[in-house]
Amino acid sequence: MQHLKDREVGVMFWADRDHLARIKAFGVRCGQLGIPGSMDLNATAEADWKAAIEQEHFVIGTVFAAYNGESYADIPTVEQTVGFVPRSSRDAREKRTRQVSDFAAALGVKSIGCHIGFVPEDRSNPEYVAVRDLVRRLADHAAKNGQTFALETGQEPAAALLSFFEDVDRPNLGINFDPANMILYGTGDPIEALDVLGKHVISVHCKDGDWPPMGQPGALGNERPLGKGAVGMERFVAKLKEVGYKGPLVIEREAENQEERMIDIGAAVELLKRITNAQA
Ligand code: MG
Repeated sequence: MQHLKDREVGVMFWADRDHLARIKAFGVRCGQLGIPGSMDLNATAEADWKAAIEQEHFVIGTVFAAYNGESYADIPTVEQTVGFVPRSSRDAREKRTRQVSDFAAALGVKSIGCHIGFVPEDRSNPEYVAVRDLVRRLADHAAKNGQTFALETGQEPAAALLSFFEDVDRPNLGINFDPANMILYGTGDPIEALDVLGKHVISVHCKDGDWPPMGQPGALGNERPLGKGAVGMERFVAKLKEVGYKGPLVIEREAENQEERMIDIGAAVELLKRITNAQA
């Protein structure tokens, strides 16, 4: 495996061979692989992706699971559809996450991650207990595969996530820190959140966005190309260094249009390389 630099620039991409080749063309050597809920995780897919990352000499730090039926249209829809909170899909998504963990293990990947959804803050709520116990089981499954399990930030304030994280209490549990989510959901300043969560952060998304629009309860902010939103990439990267984070800076861009997404990713790679060089 390649030796990566501290805070090397990486890219998150969804399982598409062409996208991997295009990301490589930006001079990127590492990133995260997203697995759509609809992808068949059979032996052929395993063999194909194993061959692809070997051929491209690409280091996958984390395999991310997404689930069928999720929608990020607005905050109420996220509450009803994302992660392990919706009761009707909970068992199926637990099973799917185990499959994603096994798929990642076959690729030699040492971490899995996902959005767990809006966890209730009341520890006596049966839904809270069910989600916490499910996360414990998944963390234990990942541990058997030699993996960490990363919870993505943003749908709750940092203190609420820390409280849940400590209650789950698993040694291989970590946080995938996404500063833009905290802004898009209006849950707090991401740089201050790193003071609270920093020691548990095992991977990051470099993503940008605007705060939710005023006077529209339940609306999410808009995701923006890196450097064009409210995060402040210089201060984000500087803060990561300050809290001792050394893993890759993984660009995530969610624009619907693939061409727009690739153009923005290319620009984001250049921006982050400039920032990390200036702060080296
Ligand atoms: Mg993210």
